[in-house]
Amino acid sequence: KPQILDLAETMADLTHLLNRLVGEKITLDLDVQSPNKVIRTDRRQFEQVVMNLVVNARDAMPNGGRVGIAVREETLDSPLERDRAEVPRGDYLVVTVADEGIGIDPDSLQKIFEPFFTTKKTGEGTGLGLSMAYGIVKQSGGFIFAESTAGRGTCFTLYFPAMDKPL
Ligand code: ADP
Ligand code: MG
Repeated sequence: KPQILDLAETMADLTHLLNRLVGEKITLDLDVQSPNKVIRTDRRQFEQVVMNLVVNARDAMPNGGRVGIAVREETLDSPLERDRAEVPRGDYLVVTVADEGIGIDPDSLQKIFEPFFTTKKTGEGTGLGLSMAYGIVKQSGGFIFAESTAGRGTCFTLYFPAMDKPL
């Protein structure tokens, strides 16, 4: 059941939980700049997506590090071609979750959104987090992309169609 989400509000409400999820060794940096726009998404599902991405980032940084979460407004004046997908022109809230973890090799990167793809030990990963994230973002009319450099880190970028904030 989609709701109108003010991501500044949603992320502020999630901060405490996310900090607990990542633990002491990881610093969470939040930078949420979405003063004029809202998205239409199920709030629980949106939270699930962010939590899945943050847990993956944590798992990729066993020795700690930094996870950056940012939200910004972006207007596409022409369609954006990326990873064989095309994001139509229009207004978006773009959410990025970036880590400085172990990264993903190019072969795996092709498969991470497939259900049950995991590189984790049995019992530590189901391989369902990113396929769920993919489905939820798609259901919201959005797009999710990953870029990664093995040994350097990973960044997930989510495009959600945005509307003007109601008065
Ligand atoms: P799970 O976390 O249960 O393995 P996911 O669908 O969440 O399943 O992720 C699938 C796989 O994608 C992971 O096993 C891992 O290999 C890779 N992955 C996802 N996020 C990251 C990340 N931030 N850094 C490195 N690898 C990642
Ligand atoms: Mg996961």
